[in-house]
Amino acid sequence: MQFFPAPVENLIDHFARLPGIGRKTAQRLAFHILNMPEQEAKSFAEALVNAKAEVRLCRSCQNLTVDELCPICSAPQRDKSTICVVSGPKDVVAIERTCEYKGLYHVLHGVISPMNHVSPDDIRIKELLARVSNGGISEIIMATNPDTEGEATALYIARLLKPFNVKVTRLAYGIPMGSHLEFTDEVTLGRALEGRREI
Ligand SMILES: [Zn+2]
Repeated sequence: MQFFPAPVENLIDHFARLPGIGRKTAQRLAFHILNMPEQEAKSFAEALVNAKAEVRLCRSCQNLTVDELCPICSAPQRDKSTICVVSGPKDVVAIERTCEYKGLYHVLHGVISPMNHVSPDDIRIKELLARVSNGGISEIIMATNPDTEGEATALYIARLLKPFNVKVTRLAYGIPMGSHLEFTDEVTLGRALEGRREI
């Protein structure tokens, strides 16, 4: 049974399909839209349609972009011999914020996850191998998350990269800044000890 007019129900259904949005939140968002001034609702709808129409994947690194090559890949000052492999576009933003990294990226758009039916063919591994086989790459930094799936994906890709004779490195594990040793879990602390460096 429908409680609201069909267009409202339709709007609620669309919101409810978004990740992390339950039926109650979907209703709240739908009513928020209905209460918006018409122009604001229109520009919201346009933003949605335009983003979908204009955004595509960079031909080289697979990150989101509006041009054929993203701004990072086309920047002349970036070090083209290093590729940092991440699982998603948000990770690129996180690493860029550090201002520490001057190389290029490769965005996998996911990690291998048998539980969620994501196989190696479902993420952008082929594209990475193609980039490396073109030559000119001296180091690949595996920067997938330090969880089970991220680790497995990093190891899987590292194995595929073996024949190319490039250095494959993994982000160091560490203790978060501002935290205390006594509250750090033993896996993190163990890995941090393993990855210690001279100061
Ligand atoms: Zn790119």
